[in-house]
Formats: sequence, C-alpha cells, structure tokens
Amino acid sequence: MQIETAHIPIQEVLLNFDADVRLFIKREDMIHPFVSGNKFRKLKYNLAEANKQNQRTLLTFGGAFSNHIAAVAAAGKIHKFQTIGIIRGEELISKVETNPTLQFAVDNGMQLKFITRENYRKKTSKEFLGQLTAEFGRFYTIPEGGTNSLAVKGCAEIITETEKDFDTICCAVGTGGTIAGISKGAYAHQKVIGFPALKGDFLQEEIKPYVSTDNWTLINAYHFGGYGKVTDELIQFINTFKNQTEIPLDPIYTGKMLYGIIDLIKKGHFAKQNRILAIHTGGLQGIEGMNRKLQRKGQKTIL
Ligand SMILES: *Cc1c(COP(=O)(O)O)cnc(C)c1O
Repeated sequence: MQIETAHIPIQEVLLNFDADVRLFIKREDMIHPFVSGNKFRKLKYNLAEANKQNQRTLLTFGGAFSNHIAAVAAAGKIHKFQTIGIIRGEELISKVETNPTLQFAVDNGMQLKFITRENYRKKTSKEFLGQLTAEFGRFYTIPEGGTNSLAVKGCAEIITETEKDFDTICCAVGTGGTIAGISKGAYAHQKVIGFPALKGDFLQEEIKPYVSTDNWTLINAYHFGGYGKVTDELIQFINTFKNQTEIPLDPIYTGKMLYGIIDLIKKGHFAKQNRILAIHTGGLQGIEGMNRKLQRKGQKTIL
C-alpha cells in the first residue's frame, strides 16, 4: 500500500507516579485515519496477494463498529478494489445512517450485506462462501478481523530495528493476528504481552498455529466485561490519559491495554529498569460510534 510506515513516532508516556520502569508508545494509529495501525499491517500482503491473483473484489466480515470493515473499505477505495462487507446483524440494515462505521464504509464504496447472527456463525463454511460467490461473483476473501498468515507477516513488520531497544512489547488482542506477528518480529531478548479485549480462554489456541516461539503471554484481566464493553472507569481513564499525554485511545482495544499496562506497573509486575513499548494499534474511528451508544444510555463519553 502506498501508505507511509517509515516514520512512525515512538513517544514516552510520562507516568504521574513513582515507577522504576519507562513506558513508551508506538503511534501506529498515525499510519492513516482509517486504515490505521494493525489493520494496515494486516492488509498489506493480502492486497498484494489479491493483485497477484488478479482479483478486483475484496470480501470480508465484521460487526457494527468494526475497525477492520472501515479499513478494508478505505484501502479498497485507495487501491481501486471493489469491496463487500458481510455484516453481523440483520437489524443493522436500517441503521446505516446512524452508525458512523457503516456509513463510512458505504461512503468509501463498500457494498454491505446484512446477515443474521446465526448465518454469521456459518460464514467460513464452504456452503456459505459458495452462496456468496453465486451472489457476488469472484472475490478475494479476507477473514473477520483480517487475521491470516499474510496478516501475521505484515504485523511482524511492526517491530523494526528502532524497537530493539525495548524489553517488553505490549499490544491489544482481538483475533490474535497482531500479537502473532509481533511475536515473530520480536528480538530474542524481548517479551511480548497481549491484552485481550474480549473474554474467553480460546485465544491462546487460536494464536498458537501462527507462532513458533513462546516469547508471548496473554493477560486476561483487562477485558472490562467483554468485547465492546466499557465501564465509566475505563472511559475516565481514556479521558485522563488524553488530557495528560495528548494521545487518544480507543475504548475497544488500546484503552483497555494501556489501563492494563499502567495497572501492572503500579503493581510491580515488571522488572526494574524495564523499557516497555506499547503498540498503539489505532481504532480511533470507533470512538464516535461508542460515544453515540454511551450518550443514549446517559453515560460518560470519550472526550
Ligand atoms: C483489530 C484491532 C486489534 C486486534 O488485532 P488482532 O490482530 O485481531 O488481535 C487491536 N487494536 C485495534 C485498534 C484493532 O482495531
């Protein structure tokens, strides 16, 4: 993709309490406002492969506020692919105008097909993909969340020589492609810690096929109730963090990860003098949709 990744800044996060570690953040969110962070990394080699196969249409899957759907729509527009998004939840068909992610996808030329949650669970079956081919013709399939081996290859590039200096690399985890790539890209002296944004212990097993070393661990304590779930405390944390550092965090992934890292620092989890690098994987497009939801419930919103 002709999107620039050579000069992604690493910033130090100054902690407002006594700590004998240092925390830094790699601003992958700055790669692109919509094809941001890890979604760019995951698409890079998939788009190259689609080109190689002479495919002109990308088809993928996602939920109502999916960063991946927004990224595929934007990347498709930039690179002149047709894009099709298979969206979980039939009821959303009438809510496109009030859903900033779906509206963005449509504005970037993505064709949306809404299916029931039941059908969505069958989305990787041969039969279902056959029906989609009958409906849309030939397409290049990108899995939900964008994770496949080409995505892992792209995410390995998050770690370059500039990152050699750090002892611990932290990232948020959804489907696990990003942490698998970082685990591959990491230097021998580095440890990788993943913060799942969802509940459940199945992730460990999903990540394993993509990794060859055991330099990584998952810390499951910071999902805040599950995927897409937030609390007032998390929102307050995101707002305070932005006030103090001028770094925006998203509520689904990077907010939970940073909350977790800072909590672990306070609890003395890291060795003294540890240099910790958090990867800001982006996701900022999701803030608007989350705020609309919070507003409807009369809850605190993200500033
Ligand atoms: C999709 C996403 C993740 C999760 O990446 P996986 O490779 O699915 O684990 C993390 N952070 C942000 C901002 C994302 O959009």
